[in-house]
Amino acid sequence: MSLSSEVAKRRTFAIISHPDAGKTTLTERLLLSGGAIQMAGNVKARKSGRHATSDWMELEKQRGISVTSSVMQFEYGGKMINLLDTPGHADFSEDTYRTLTAVDSALMVIDIAKGVEERTIKLMDVCRLRTTPIMTFVNKMDREGRDPIEVMDEVESVLDILCAPMTWPVGTGKLFRGVYRIYDDTIHLFAGRPGNDKEKDTFIDGLHSAEADAALGGYAAELRDELELVQGASNEFDLEFYLSGELTPVFFGSAINNLGIDELMENFARYAPPPQGRAAQTREVSSAEESFSGFVFKIQANMDPSHHDRIAFMRITSGHFEKGKKLRHVRLKRDMAINNASTFMASRRDQIEEAYAGDILGVHNHGTIQIGDTFTEGEELKFTGIPNFAPELFRRVRLRDPLRAKALQKGLIQLSEEGATQVFRPLNNNDMILGAVGILQFDVVAHRLKAEYNVECAFDAVPVATARWLHFPDAKMEEEFLRKNESNVARDGADSLTYVAPNMVNLQLTIERWPDVEFRKTREI
Ligand code: GDP
Repeated sequence: MSLSSEVAKRRTFAIISHPDAGKTTLTERLLLSGGAIQMAGNVKARKSGRHATSDWMELEKQRGISVTSSVMQFEYGGKMINLLDTPGHADFSEDTYRTLTAVDSALMVIDIAKGVEERTIKLMDVCRLRTTPIMTFVNKMDREGRDPIEVMDEVESVLDILCAPMTWPVGTGKLFRGVYRIYDDTIHLFAGRPGNDKEKDTFIDGLHSAEADAALGGYAAELRDELELVQGASNEFDLEFYLSGELTPVFFGSAINNLGIDELMENFARYAPPPQGRAAQTREVSSAEESFSGFVFKIQANMDPSHHDRIAFMRITSGHFEKGKKLRHVRLKRDMAINNASTFMASRRDQIEEAYAGDILGVHNHGTIQIGDTFTEGEELKFTGIPNFAPELFRRVRLRDPLRAKALQKGLIQLSEEGATQVFRPLNNNDMILGAVGILQFDVVAHRLKAEYNVECAFDAVPVATARWLHFPDAKMEEEFLRKNESNVARDGADSLTYVAPNMVNLQLTIERWPDVEFRKTREI
């Protein structure tokens, strides 16, 4: 098959949802329907830490959560689908944000009983940074929930995106027995629950057919009235609006019962965008280019802590990869033969043979690769748009054994390069301040410092409320600003200057006082 048809087959996406909405259950269903795993339960097993083999992973096991995200590949409807998992626990991490920079679309899962929840709002904000197209799956229709119309209204008003229902539930709660496919005017009635015996399902042509009356009895008229109302109040599906992130097609179903998922996936395979181009500093790189390029969006410490072995997750932006291919590590200005890259076929972690734009490579390394690194076939490219986010939580590191200060510094710089935490070193003292987006990141850092660097430390509260990356119009202003604000300026892990504000009022006043200085909420790596 040609390069262009291989690339055109790829669909790379992530699921965004609030914890408990059903992301794991749906993931499992998708893998099953793609034939990628033999039995249900694998994803759950991973969630509870079955693969935990290092001390650090021990943390996941103890808490029964997945701290790291991974990549799963499966086939559906002739498409090669890459599903990038985002951490499922209640905490919020930067990995999640950055994973969203590596996908071409997202699937939002909403619990019919809960509607739009807090995490969904945050994740949508991140998707907006790159106008990622979003499909919506309203889950748990087998339960008594809220009125579907009301939930769609909430999506529209809270998330500021238009809804186009693609399916509509035939009955809800105990009476949920099918979906009406608005997109092709077909009623799909489930044979039973769970819906694994699909051959027995019934498909009826036309909502207004006599067959519909025969199958649904008195409910047929009710369903017709409801749809008239729904279609009057919502939008029709429009591919262009979906691709520009202004409209989300909405599907209803039940992940655990395997109901309504075929409709979702069929339309996902049909409409979700193939690999998109990416902006680099010098030019826009198209996914149709033959020459290889890719960027690293995530680093995961590997199973063996004593070797500091890590996997760099690289999204291929253009071209083709095969085992042993020589790639240019642009930042280090060095060519590397990539012999041990893996891909992620569901539960197996295969040695990769070939991969194409849209796919994710897992490249083993010993710390030579950082988040944000670009790889090419020789061109001096640097992809942009992989963000560090302004942390919202801060702690001062207290070393238990002062003689381990050097090891601590080394460990923290490496962990910050990996994106596990952010480090801030104030200009006017020797503190090490850690910043995180989610509270659990501190636990992970403490755990890994001990396991991998033999450093024991504790964390103290520190009067820092937020950080902003500073950009000055000229050196003179920079000097003046630093002189007047020295006690509130720090260098991050990459030596960039940041303003660390003791509180939001202070930040606001400083911004007003220095109108020509930029205070950025993200730093591009
Ligand atoms: P996650 O935190 O988003 O990954 O959510 P999970 O997939 O772990 O699901 C959370 C809970 O909801 C679990 O107890 C699931 O069994 C349950 N669940 C998932 N899908 C459905 C569904 O369609 N109907 C019902 N009733 N429960 C569901």
